[in-house]
Amino acid sequence: MTELSTPPAQDSWEKLEAEVAACQLCPLLSQSRTQHVFGTGNHKADLVIVGEAPGANEDLQGKPFVGRAGQLLSEMLRAIGLQRDDIFITNILKSRPPNNRDPKPEEIANCTPFLERQLSLLQPKLMVALGRIAAHYLLDTNETMGKLRGRQFTFRNTGTPLIVTYHPAYLLRSPSQKKESYKDLLLIKQALDRL
Ligand code: URA
Repeated sequence: MTELSTPPAQDSWEKLEAEVAACQLCPLLSQSRTQHVFGTGNHKADLVIVGEAPGANEDLQGKPFVGRAGQLLSEMLRAIGLQRDDIFITNILKSRPPNNRDPKPEEIANCTPFLERQLSLLQPKLMVALGRIAAHYLLDTNETMGKLRGRQFTFRNTGTPLIVTYHPAYLLRSPSQKKESYKDLLLIKQALDRL
């Protein structure tokens, strides 16, 4: 199994967050955001969860998944015995897109080097992609969520298992899919138990 690329010796959480905070590669997002949303949680976590982009509440508080979708995410985690402090949560984009529109390809290209460095620092043992945007980036695919969820992938050539599940914002809009998402949660739990 190949490890996730190790961080350059000079990289650190503090340096990385300072760079995110100062980043102006996306002129629109860096001007419209209240603040950056770096990610929160345990730097030694086995599990990293990757969402899409901050929404209005996250933009105000500077933390990921603190709105309604975040509350649902916390419940989903609790259902498999996890607390937010047990894991690390971040997003593909570190700044809120106006009106919560989908991230643009150039914004993803500008911002994901920060995610890559977070992953190098974290060296997670299990990864979860929340929703299509995170799944498409992490798996370098355009497959539908229907094809991506409910199974286990490997993140690139790292050997790190990666599971895709519905974004909690989607579950708030389509509560009938919660049953399916519970199956994914059980997959995540099984993968964690195997570590
Ligand atoms: N949705 C996301 O994808 N990320 C957040 O941080 C909040 C809502």
